[in-house]
Amino acid sequence: MVLDALGESLRGTLRKIANATRVDEALVKEVVRDIQRALLQADVNVKLTLQLTKNIQDRALNEQPPKGMSPRNHVIKIVNDEMVGLLGKQRDIPAKPMRILMVGLYGQGKTTTTGKLSKWYSKKGLKVGVIAADVHRPAAYHQLQQLSQQTKVAFYGDPNAKAGDAPRVVREGLAHMKKERADVIIVDTSGRHRLEDDLVQEVKDVADVIQADEKFLVIDATVGQQAGPQAKAFHDAVGLTGVVLTKIDGSAKGGGALSAVAETGAPVVFVGTGEHVDELEKFDPPRFISRLLGMGDIQSLLEAAQDAVTDEDAAEKTARKILSGKFTLVEMREQMEMLSGMGSMSKIMNMIPGMGGRMSDEAMNETQVRLAKFKVIMGSMTKHEMENPTEIKGSRVQRIARGAGVEPREVKELLKYFEMSKRAVKGFASNKKAQKRLMQRLQMDGQELPE
Ligand code: GDP
Repeated sequence: MVLDALGESLRGTLRKIANATRVDEALVKEVVRDIQRALLQADVNVKLTLQLTKNIQDRALNEQPPKGMSPRNHVIKIVNDEMVGLLGKQRDIPAKPMRILMVGLYGQGKTTTTGKLSKWYSKKGLKVGVIAADVHRPAAYHQLQQLSQQTKVAFYGDPNAKAGDAPRVVREGLAHMKKERADVIIVDTSGRHRLEDDLVQEVKDVADVIQADEKFLVIDATVGQQAGPQAKAFHDAVGLTGVVLTKIDGSAKGGGALSAVAETGAPVVFVGTGEHVDELEKFDPPRFISRLLGMGDIQSLLEAAQDAVTDEDAAEKTARKILSGKFTLVEMREQMEMLSGMGSMSKIMNMIPGMGGRMSDEAMNETQVRLAKFKVIMGSMTKHEMENPTEIKGSRVQRIARGAGVEPREVKELLKYFEMSKRAVKGFASNKKAQKRLMQRLQMDGQELPE
């Protein structure tokens, strides 16, 4: 995958957040340092990196998570948002009849990309034609001709064209494509070693003839941050509608190129991910970042956390009732229901590396079986008995056991469990420190404890 090393370290950072016992300033600062290091290693500009990590730090420390989102997931979301922002606004290139002008320096992948685009539009069901107007590089004519045979699109060119012939070739090409009934016409132009005046003039002359809907600059991503000044110079000279970054496969400098181009305001519209004619991808910043961060997994984590919120609300209510001193079998059953709702919690734990398997499956099962049996027993009790468990003695125990299809011994076990829970709750109710810890875990910081 593209930018493997960057993705690897960013995913490690997100795991760190997901594993943290609490999100505090120390964690945020550590995360920010990790991200800085990862971005600088991917060649992202120092100034951009500092700005981005400052944004992450400020937002993570000052913004309140939206309701229903835990502080952890909130920080993960902030990192995601800011990374997407780094790559600039998305410019969607529709697949519809149009004329496209390809510009760029030598060796950047312009001709290859022209071939790739011809395939991309063909696959969308459009009839495509390519025009070879690179009159400087002799091999360009044959290269594009071959590519057009491979992608089965119409082709026009003049193998004998010389410097200054480009506008003529394009004019003839447009006439040819009209006969071919091409919906999408792509014109490959000449490059130079640098952006020289005569190149700008040639591009302008060709642009006058073709009246292009899109002007795409092709840049080799391995130049890293240098892609920024290059994009800006072309943008100022001919007014680009998009940039195609090639050779993003296996280039550690792709991050630099992507962010530097985004900063110029010329949107990256496609990326080339290999030499083959199929290796072209539409560039979509949110999707790109989501893949880079492994957000597929993160997304399911966020969703599971949403489910757990309802459990948390119920937990909050029961916790308050218990703290107010009321604890009968009714409250105990609510507490138990919360525990069995923990099924979703164990799912979350398993999704967070390092957290899974903290409670052994065996212990988990045993508890589940026991609680299930207690629930059946309580189902045979009257409302009065549930609210006044101390009155459950003698013949009442017999009746409940018969109703639930269990031994009287098991009803007594339930009552013993209730007494234990009640003692624990009483102790807890008089222990402000422990309460505070629980409250923090329920994420109710700053709210007053009931007296
Ligand atoms: P032009 O001078 O700009 O027309 O450049 P070319 O289209 O001839 O490409 C120059 C070299 O880059 C060729 O060897 C291509 O195969 C290679 N190339 C182009 N795009 C990509 C890409 O996305 N990935 C890789 N790995 N190589 C590419």
